Amino acid sequence: MTDADIAQLRTEFQQELARVASESDLQAIRDKYLGRKSGAVTALMKAVSTAPADLKPVLGKLANELKQELEALLAEKKALLGASKAPVGAVDISLPGRTPPIGHQHPLTIVREQIEGIFTRMGYQVLEGPEVEDDYHNFEALNMPAEHPARDMQDTLYLDGEIPGQGRPATLLRTHTSPMQIRYMETHQPPVRIIVPGKVYRRDDLDLTHTPMFQQVEGLVVGERITLADLKGTLTTFLHELFENRTQVLFRPSFFPYTEPSVEVFIGCVFCGAKGCPVCKRTGWLEILGSGMVHPRVFEAVGYDPERYTGFAFGVGIERVALLKYGVDDIRLFYENDLRFLEQFPL
Ligand SMILES: [Zn+2]
Repeated sequence: MTDADIAQLRTEFQQELARVASESDLQAIRDKYLGRKSGAVTALMKAVSTAPADLKPVLGKLANELKQELEALLAEKKALLGASKAPVGAVDISLPGRTPPIGHQHPLTIVREQIEGIFTRMGYQVLEGPEVEDDYHNFEALNMPAEHPARDMQDTLYLDGEIPGQGRPATLLRTHTSPMQIRYMETHQPPVRIIVPGKVYRRDDLDLTHTPMFQQVEGLVVGERITLADLKGTLTTFLHELFENRTQVLFRPSFFPYTEPSVEVFIGCVFCGAKGCPVCKRTGWLEILGSGMVHPRVFEAVGYDPERYTGFAFGVGIERVALLKYGVDDIRLFYENDLRFLEQFPL
């Protein structure tokens, strides 16, 4: 055994390693050189132990170096084989998956469904009505005959250009969801307990708080012995659920042609905690909905006996609720479809 034998073994190993193309080739060459029983290097190490005493240290050192070199080369080759196994662009299935982006509900839909949920749990039926209305259902049957000054409260988008009261009944885009009160009562007898969510249209310019199209939820309850106390209890319960019991509720007399008495409902300002700020004009209160006891003339228009039946109605703006609930200061954001805004919901 000489150092030439060691060099010879190294050369043979390098030539064989160059031909290795698979894991099994690699295992075979490992067994051949480093195997515990019959490996060539293992045999070499044994031979060193029987070498003359003066050569032992030198040969032992060379044999050890060879062994380490071979192990390093085998490890390198193994890594190369492993890397080449996965083709370029292959999917590493051991990595955690990427979550595909999925859509979610629009903030106005979230609010609408929340309102529907609250009233459904109170036993209300959810209905929809036509957005193209006639003058009779939008105004006249709601105690707003032609020339009634209250018509000016709602700038109307007329579809056929006729001026109400001066020709055939005009077709228009409904200015509120209240016409569905009439349509429902025309075809159903009391008791009535409905809400009507839907789009309404006004001739408004687009600004921070107005859009020509917005959404309302109309509510109507009719029966015997329905009183203002029912209105107060229902709307207080509703607002407490909607604003998660954090809000104070204030009722104030108001005017609507189709209710008598009429009531405006306020909640404690959500921006300043009812202390007073520019948004609530230093009052601590924000108007949230309009309501009132159904006017006897409305009952007469649909053939209900106003001596026997009473009821209350209310209307709440979905955008208005969303603005206050989410602290948004510009109504236009709800319609611009900017994902940077929309992806913040649900909060
Ligand atoms: Zn305030």
